[in-house]
Amino acid sequence: MSLSNISDDMYGHSPFSVNNDHSSGEMTGADVQIITSGGLRIPAHSCILALASPVLENIIDRPRKHRSSEKTIPILGVPCDAVAVFLRFLYSSKCTEEDMDKYGVHLLALSHVYLVPQLKQRCTKGLAGRLMFENVVDVLQLARLCNAPDLYLKCMKMVSSNFKAIEQTEGWKFLQNHDPWLELEILQFIDEAETRKKRTRRHREAQSLYLQLSEAMECLEHICTEGCMSVGPYDVEPSKNRGPCSKFSTCQGLQLLIRHFATCKRRVNGGCLRCKRMWQLLRLHSSICDQPDACKVPLCRQFKLKMQQEKKRDDARWRLLVRKVVSAKAISSLSLPKRKREEPREAINHSGVRMFEL
Ligand SMILES: [Zn+2]
Ligand SMILES: [Zn+2]
Ligand SMILES: [Zn+2]
Repeated sequence: MSLSNISDDMYGHSPFSVNNDHSSGEMTGADVQIITSGGLRIPAHSCILALASPVLENIIDRPRKHRSSEKTIPILGVPCDAVAVFLRFLYSSKCTEEDMDKYGVHLLALSHVYLVPQLKQRCTKGLAGRLMFENVVDVLQLARLCNAPDLYLKCMKMVSSNFKAIEQTEGWKFLQNHDPWLELEILQFIDEAETRKKRTRRHREAQSLYLQLSEAMECLEHICTEGCMSVGPYDVEPSKNRGPCSKFSTCQGLQLLIRHFATCKRRVNGGCLRCKRMWQLLRLHSSICDQPDACKVPLCRQFKLKMQQEKKRDDARWRLLVRKVVSAKAISSLSLPKRKREEPREAINHSGVRMFEL
């Protein structure tokens, strides 16, 4: 007879329904009585209990004082209906949503104490889905006691991101009075979560800057090689159609900068910030460029030569910047779907400045 058949039989006798007389003991083959905190007795089969829970197995195998006396197992400290639901799970591996609503916390405790991993898993999920501001602190305490790390983390996250509201709950006030260690643990978690958030934000901002620079590098190359919109190299036919490219906003900004750079009277030495920025971009390109001989980006070779001469003075921060720009490009090409490279370009007129006769 399989376990599920037995459980069907059991349902036939319905020994666990709330309205039933628990003390009747009419169940066929029942050889053990579970005693609940209400003093009620629920008949059960020792072989099934032993199979479902190693802790119950130990209790059942323990020698009794009087051989003739009836075997009883007290399961106290939780409502007797919760015990009934627990036993039903041991027989059938089933537990309804309604049971979970009513006795989720008790079932978690029972599953932990009597080592029933399937029920523990079920409760962990069930309770995680039922977390509310009002009960999260209680569930958190229980999750810690019952060593349920997933549930614990979920509670912690909820408390940490809704602390203002949860601070007002009865559960929190009780915790403050009775479990200062857990209070400290929670406050520490919140603190770390904030630090983590800040660090992630800072990292994301930096990453987006490196990505912008890496995009600017791509644009610089393609403006200098084939031209884009109104700006292009002096030796490329202006009649070629040039429409906005896929990196329009970066590219357009760069084109404006290039136009400025070509016409500015103050220049870098005159203290022009925009020119200085362009200068840095050209230098960055040169640091990244791996074919300076064929390269059409202005000053690429000159910068390379200068860098070789000044190798010793090449500062660490600049090298770090170069490395990060290169890796930002690598990361973005891994994580983004490949952009359409060649979109049909609209014809636009080329009244713009012809560039790079620097
Ligand atoms: Zn472009
Ligand atoms: Zn300028
Ligand atoms: Zn180059």
